[in-house]
Amino acid sequence: MPPHPAIEQIKQILGSKGWADEDGMLAPHLVDSRGSYQGRCLGLALPATTEEVSRIVTLCAHHRIPIVPQGGNTGRVGGATPDETGTALLINLSRMNNILEIDPEGHAITVEAGCILQNIQQAAADADRFFPLSLGAEGSCQIGGNLASNAGGINVLRYGNTRDLVLGLEAVMPDGRVMNALTALRKDNTGYDLKHLLIGSEGTLGIITKAVLRLFPRPTSQATAFCALDSLDSAVDLLGRARADSGDAVSSFELIPARAVEFASRHVPNTRPPLDDIPDWCVLLEFSGSGAAPSTNKDLESFLEGAFEAGLITDAMIAQNEGQRSDLWRLREAIVAAQKPEGASIKHDISVPVQAVPAFIRQANEAVTEACPGIRPYPFGHVGDGNIHYNLSQPEGMAPAAFKAREEDLHRIVYDITQSLGGSISAEHGIGRKKRDDLARYGDPVSLDLMRAIKKALDPDNIMNPGILLPTETNDNDKK
Ligand code: FAD
Repeated sequence: MPPHPAIEQIKQILGSKGWADEDGMLAPHLVDSRGSYQGRCLGLALPATTEEVSRIVTLCAHHRIPIVPQGGNTGRVGGATPDETGTALLINLSRMNNILEIDPEGHAITVEAGCILQNIQQAAADADRFFPLSLGAEGSCQIGGNLASNAGGINVLRYGNTRDLVLGLEAVMPDGRVMNALTALRKDNTGYDLKHLLIGSEGTLGIITKAVLRLFPRPTSQATAFCALDSLDSAVDLLGRARADSGDAVSSFELIPARAVEFASRHVPNTRPPLDDIPDWCVLLEFSGSGAAPSTNKDLESFLEGAFEAGLITDAMIAQNEGQRSDLWRLREAIVAAQKPEGASIKHDISVPVQAVPAFIRQANEAVTEACPGIRPYPFGHVGDGNIHYNLSQPEGMAPAAFKAREEDLHRIVYDITQSLGGSISAEHGIGRKKRDDLARYGDPVSLDLMRAIKKALDPDNIMNPGILLPTETNDNDKK
């Protein structure tokens, strides 16, 4: 294919450091983090300033060149991968990685969108403050990607999703204009709060270039325990009690099934069961707080004694030092990698109301087992937010391809149950390419129409991440 005439102009704007089109450089940017989607592109733009982003978007708008915004490319739904046509320009903000300002008194930090999440956490800690967004990919995902996908992670229960951590934004809109809402104001009732349109829009409404984020006092104490649950139902009671008894000092509440402890101990180095007897269901519970908040090991111990007497837990191990705490979190983080060596897997990132979590897991386990005898359900995750990563491992001995052939049926079973319990088919990973048709089936039709109307108003030529998030109109009703 001859190069697009606009490419020379784009290259001139960006300079040699800002442009890549050799196969070796492009390859890692053209495949998603799960290896499910592979695409092609006109080239990779690596702008260094908002002005450069604005100038190349203006050119793309003029020539109607599709744009795929990309951050750390750790997303789970194929939203940052261009399609196979090779007609899109990939724009990655990794060179826009400066921390612009930190205001400890105002509890705010201003960053460029290409900042790696871990670097923002560190900058906050260096100023004796806390930025609570935390997830397994924090060493490589960018804050722009976190914002565009409204990422969740392990601290949502206490601090909210990424959306709740934002004060202001700057973004380049699909016509190339820069929306300057880069404010640190805590109160600003001057009409529509447009930053929230960009947050969670998965690159379909513009390119986020800067953000002002909320900081918090650094927790001065933290207490972490691995708890053996008496039953799955005890999880909900334990969470309610923990929140009430601790004055809402629960920062994480992660459900871990016995199967995950078994797979992790078998396949991931340096992970082992924290207790001698692992029951069917366990929880990783963390209190954190500052000042007088009850968040020490002593507080946790007295809470767990009460939970034991109430019959909610049968055993628990409290981390006595940072090493033991890291071991517990290593086990939690190992759950994803530990599933791979067990063969093919089918994954769901769903949420239901917290009290419906046990019913969801029971109904889903029963239904998938009936559909595919021998299947190994592997549900885990941020159950304090009602978010379950409802993963499934293939039956032992089954050919991986035969299991994968069941993927659509199994998705349908899981999502039908999710919907019947008032849940969401995407808790924190977004829609991307992967769940577009599922959104058509399970989304509210009026909400979908409104989303399309917003997209049309802001991006009439559909150049921003086309094919992502929004189902085509004909899809919805056909699929119902
Ligand atoms: P990318 O993957 O590059 O992009 C994601 C989406 O955002 C795409 O649609 C892209 O077009 C768009 N985008 C990227 N940058 C911009 C920008 N500057 N402006 C506009 N649009 C943009 N997610 C969770 O929510 N919770 C978890 O606990 C979690 N754990 C994970 C653990 C692992 C090991 C991995 C690999 C992933 C995990 N994820 C989790 C998913 C992923 O890390 C998050 O979705 C993350 O927020 C994506 O950030 P990114 O920079 O990699 O974005």
